Amino acid sequence: MCWHDTDPNRWKQEQTIASQLVDDFDAGIDGERTAFIRGTLGVFSEHGHLYESAKLRIEYPQNFPARNQPPSVFLESHRDCWKNSGDSHIESDWRLCLFVPGESGINFADPASLNDLFAVIHTFLFKQRIYQKRLAKTLITGCVAKWPGADRSHGEKGVREAIQAMGGVGRNNPCPCGSGLKYKKCHMRKFERR
Ligand SMILES: [Zn+2]
Repeated sequence: MCWHDTDPNRWKQEQTIASQLVDDFDAGIDGERTAFIRGTLGVFSEHGHLYESAKLRIEYPQNFPARNQPPSVFLESHRDCWKNSGDSHIESDWRLCLFVPGESGINFADPASLNDLFAVIHTFLFKQRIYQKRLAKTLITGCVAKWPGADRSHGEKGVREAIQAMGGVGRNNPCPCGSGLKYKKCHMRKFERR
């Protein structure tokens, strides 16, 4: 049984929130029984000027929202013009590296948490747009493009930084990476192997 079978009200609520925040809203269950939401999100300036429209696909873990595992967010547009390498915080499969989940402060047990996730996505895309422009300039000027803002490093290094900032994690506490596993079964092992 997947979470959308056992908690259809929550699944309905996720769709309601998303349908209010994106254009071209679409949702469903794919062949692997993964619940997904798709839509187009406008990236606006603080003055309400529309910069870009980004097509997104949000995929939910099978036992959502247990253990505070976050949904995955994939960028479906911009693949022809944005780069998903280096410091871009976009994985090779176009999954957005939005935050270190244990640090995000989002409680996915809260039925309104998708609003918080969308706020994070919006800020991320705003920064991504700046970063991608810098990347494009790099080709001309040779200056190294820098990710705007003092965020965590990309990938594993970012998880390590977050754990250091927290002053460590208890062995039996949830891993800050958002895997839903205990720390001792997840990144504690990965770090010890080095
Ligand atoms: Zn982990």
